[in-house]
Amino acid sequence: MNDRISEKLSILADAAKYDVSCSSSGSKRENVNKGLGNAAGGMGICHAYTEDGRCVSLLKILLTNYCIFNCAYCVSRSSNDVKRAAFTVDEVVELTINFYRRNYIEGLFLSSGIFKNADYTMERLVLIAKKLRTEHNFHGYIHLKAIPGASNELMRQAGLYADRLSVNVEMPTEQSLQLLAPEKNRQDMLQPMHYLKTQILQHQEEKKTSRHLPLFAPAGQSTQMVIGATPENDMQVLLMANYFYKKMQLKRVYYSGYVPISNDNRLPAIGTPVPMIRENRLYQADWLMRFYGFAAGELVAPDHPHLDMDIDPKLSWALRNLHVFPLDVNKADVELIMRVPGIGVGSAHKIVAARRFNLLTHDHLQKIGIAYNRAKYFITCKGPGTLVKDYTPLQIKQQILAMQHSKYQPNFSPQLTLF
Ligand code: SF4
Repeated sequence: MNDRISEKLSILADAAKYDVSCSSSGSKRENVNKGLGNAAGGMGICHAYTEDGRCVSLLKILLTNYCIFNCAYCVSRSSNDVKRAAFTVDEVVELTINFYRRNYIEGLFLSSGIFKNADYTMERLVLIAKKLRTEHNFHGYIHLKAIPGASNELMRQAGLYADRLSVNVEMPTEQSLQLLAPEKNRQDMLQPMHYLKTQILQHQEEKKTSRHLPLFAPAGQSTQMVIGATPENDMQVLLMANYFYKKMQLKRVYYSGYVPISNDNRLPAIGTPVPMIRENRLYQADWLMRFYGFAAGELVAPDHPHLDMDIDPKLSWALRNLHVFPLDVNKADVELIMRVPGIGVGSAHKIVAARRFNLLTHDHLQKIGIAYNRAKYFITCKGPGTLVKDYTPLQIKQQILAMQHSKYQPNFSPQLTLF
């Protein structure tokens, strides 16, 4: 790799690290005709990140960090004094192929600042994906960030070559977008999402009758919201995510804790901590909505619009709804068992399968692998070991928190040094 390409790579990979919406799950692109790579089954692509935020298995870069826009929260904004660079289409194609052959990466995550206008930039992103697929027979994973405002035709072409597409909404509400990115338009983000949803659904229908149809964005679409840059509460964020899941059928919503990078009185000051715990709680709540059947309104509501920071959202819900408990694990529906803190989806199904043969005791439950010390406040089972007492929510919370703290305490106990 020559020095100029290497310099571009360091600038444009560094600028891409703020984009968290980078994952690969769900794609089914099988290798045919001895092509290069394989994203079949959507597995096998590691989602690990290095400490500075780089994704280690996808080549995660921007096509360019030049941008005509000046979004206050973005390191690539036009007014920011940073080193700029831009790859050519062929440079990105060659880098991807070379890195893939050397086994450095399993796919490409490509985003971009906006060169001239949305279509001009999107055309180049599409061309890269097209060249990889058609000229190099590349079957690895491709995630393209769609440029808001690009034409439907370009979105359609992007769907033919990429596994996943995403249009970042960036801000949870339109007001915040207007405040921090006044040149951007919420409708320019929602319209392509809506278009892609229609195309993906239509394609899935047509695929049922014609197996030879080409793939169209088989890993679906996702988006990213920046949180902590503006004053929206968790309820606003989760209701917006719920809208994307239900109305746009997005596969994933990513929550990106704002990294203070601008001296701008519209934003948290430089040095303000990144809201990592909040980001983590939002991901937990999102997981509960997608896999545990929780409605957004059960996790956050006008009288508690923020997720608890000291306990996870499932425990928080259980403590607010103690009237539902204790559940008899030998009788309760699997959907309710899944809602018990300390019992996951897999364990809930194992419980229901195992109780067909035996009335389950706490020994059985521990063998199944539930977090019994947490679950015991919310369940009953056969025999001794069940804990049904009139604890208040606060008492249960304190006991669970104390247990969490005690988990690592022996390592630091002075008594350990005596033996
Ligand atoms: S349009 Fe995108 S790249 Fe450009 S400043 Fe805004 S967020 Fe950054």
